[in-house]
Amino acid sequence: MRVLLTGGSGFIAAHVLDILLDHGHSVVTTVRSQQKARAIADAHTSYGKDKLDFAIVEDIAQENAFDEAVKSDPPFEAVIHTASPFHFNVTDVQKQLLDPAIIGTTGILKSVKKSAPSVKKVVITSSFASIINPFKGTWPEHTYSEADWNPITSEQAVENPAAGYRASKTFAERAAWDFLEKEKPNFTISTMCPPLVLGPIVHYLNSLNGLNTSNQRIRDIMQGKAKDEIPETGTFIWVDVRDLALCHVLSIEKEEAANKRFFITAGYFSNKEIAQVVGKEYPQYKDQLPTEKTPGGDYPKDGVYKIDNSRVKELLGIKFRSFEESIKDTVKSLQAVGA
Ligand code: NDP
Repeated sequence: MRVLLTGGSGFIAAHVLDILLDHGHSVVTTVRSQQKARAIADAHTSYGKDKLDFAIVEDIAQENAFDEAVKSDPPFEAVIHTASPFHFNVTDVQKQLLDPAIIGTTGILKSVKKSAPSVKKVVITSSFASIINPFKGTWPEHTYSEADWNPITSEQAVENPAAGYRASKTFAERAAWDFLEKEKPNFTISTMCPPLVLGPIVHYLNSLNGLNTSNQRIRDIMQGKAKDEIPETGTFIWVDVRDLALCHVLSIEKEEAANKRFFITAGYFSNKEIAQVVGKEYPQYKDQLPTEKTPGGDYPKDGVYKIDNSRVKELLGIKFRSFEESIKDTVKSLQAVGA
């Protein structure tokens, strides 16, 4: 298939790109600069321009940002939209989080409908942020599934960056489903809703300081920041980036994925367990790590929400990697950039 992948420089997208190429698809990926395009191209020299090419989209928050990128010869059959800001370092929630997420999503759907009639499938990286009800705390009596929606409002969205991020994913995903219902385009939509994504980084675009948000807690634990007290875990469920990336690719390959939302999680974890796996697999970090007696980083005493990840296992046939394997491989990849 000829596939347009947005945000190819991202942590998750880098793995989506590798699986797409491995499955024989031909990919154009959008990045924000020629420099990023070059870094990705240099890491994939065995693929010619017919298999891997680039389009520059500097800012997905601009209306019509994707108008040119969706045009291709041969034409695209599928689009995977991963680009969206995921960090909390913002001063203006509307401009820096909500606009790129929402306008980015509606923008690509409009451009595809207008200029790429050959596209039959669109996959969008949403988040558990669009599923979780943040006002219910750890809600031990509840089971989260694709049926749940974050009830956050526009007023609550701008209260702080964490709320802003969760709202950005919720509103963007809602906008995609609304588009499908109202515009009745020629394509199906599948949304991917992962919680915290852990797993190896690709070395060619990363540095220890510029690390993607979700892996920062592993780096911080390795660097001794949990030695005296382990930070609160916050979100208690996770998935490995390679399993999540495979879900994206399977969603363009399998008819069963059409017009479905997928809650993609491997299970539970705590920050304390991250430290334990790092200590067991890499004894050289012992002096930086917390001990069994260090306070914090555990599960809440009253329990945590339950999870139903049966759809992704049944329809996409995913078998999730273990937490130990994921942490071990993440640490190895961080060592390659100087950890
Ligand atoms: P990254 O920060 O590594 O990737 C984000 C990507 O989006 C980058 O390619 C970035 O480009 C691009 N991007 C952000 N803002 C803009 C913009 N205004 N214009 C153009 N491109 C932009 O994060 P992840 O890979 O972790 O996240 C990818 C997706 O997965 C996001 O949609 C995120 O919400 C979602 N997600 C991630 C989770 C996680 O734990 N990692 C959990 C749940 C969902 P550049 O690098 O050049 O800035």
